[in-house]
Amino acid sequence: MEKMKALVFHGVNEISIDEVPRPRAGAGEAVIRVTLTTICGTDLHIVRGGYPVKPGLIIGHEPVGVIEELGPGVTGFQVGDRVLVGAITPCGQCHACLSGHQSQCGHGGGYEAVGGWRFGNTINGAQAEYLLVPYAQANLAKIPDELSDEQVVLLADTASTGFGGAESGGVRIGDAVVVVAQGPIGLCATAGAKLMGASLVISVDGDENRLRMARWMGADVALNYKEVNVVSEVKRLTGVGADVAIEALGAQETFEQSLRCLRPAGTLSSLGVYSGKLQIPYDAFAAGIGDYRIVTTLCPGGKERMRRLMEVVRRGRVDFTPLLTHRFSLDEITQAYRTLGEHRGGVIKVAIRP
Ligand SMILES: [Zn+2]
Ligand SMILES: [Zn+2]
Repeated sequence: MEKMKALVFHGVNEISIDEVPRPRAGAGEAVIRVTLTTICGTDLHIVRGGYPVKPGLIIGHEPVGVIEELGPGVTGFQVGDRVLVGAITPCGQCHACLSGHQSQCGHGGGYEAVGGWRFGNTINGAQAEYLLVPYAQANLAKIPDELSDEQVVLLADTASTGFGGAESGGVRIGDAVVVVAQGPIGLCATAGAKLMGASLVISVDGDENRLRMARWMGADVALNYKEVNVVSEVKRLTGVGADVAIEALGAQETFEQSLRCLRPAGTLSSLGVYSGKLQIPYDAFAAGIGDYRIVTTLCPGGKERMRRLMEVVRRGRVDFTPLLTHRFSLDEITQAYRTLGEHRGGVIKVAIRP
């Protein structure tokens, strides 16, 4: 049996590069040789035990690669094609997919919360030399020749999710939008709010390096929550409060702050992944009669989503490459996890080259 190198999750805080069997493509599947991937905050969460996956799993869900093998039934692609595959791999056929909720694609034909998230969750993921792509017909997106791997790798998850926050929030031309937390997803939400026509984008974080990057990604105002009262500053800048608040961390504090930044009848668009209990104080919520809208979003995936995002980059609307601050080989990936986990050297995203 042919082998490959991959990052294997063995248990909480136990990961290593192992030799594992190389996948083969069955009907409807493809195998890609991974040429670039990255580490998501969710992977850190998995390694630290905050989101359980089974020991022995290869983690990672942001693949760029070259088609190595195509299973029977996959048409319109050739071995050797460069492809981007979304973090979420909808089947395109089930009840959820055909109702337009691809991220909640069910494993058994129906709806299932986070069901469409398979890589590094329910099946082997992308931090490996090769990756088996399920439902390949719906999920392989050819990369235009003029785009490099680094230009597209963040579209698989980070940018798709960040933009999704602005889209689900229904940002309209002329809106005032506040984006709370400027990690990679929040930075992409900042860019998304700008792209959707917000006239004022206020980005919030406590790290000056990230606030600088927020301005580069399109923030008109970058607020350091350690230095100013964010809620009163947003009220002062907007007069009434933000039309849309995007929460990009997943904590009680940031959720509540996002809600308090809104004008009545505003929308809280939540991207965070929460644990424990989330509470809504009655005053932040106008006791339930403020006509607030709260929406949540899991990363949109599938080849059409990837095609659209690649067009946004190809047409020069946005450039995510400045977010790739550090580079590592697959052999050095545990070092990359440490760099990211300890926020070393102004790291935002790491590029991992198998
Ligand atoms: Zn992710
Ligand atoms: Zn489906």
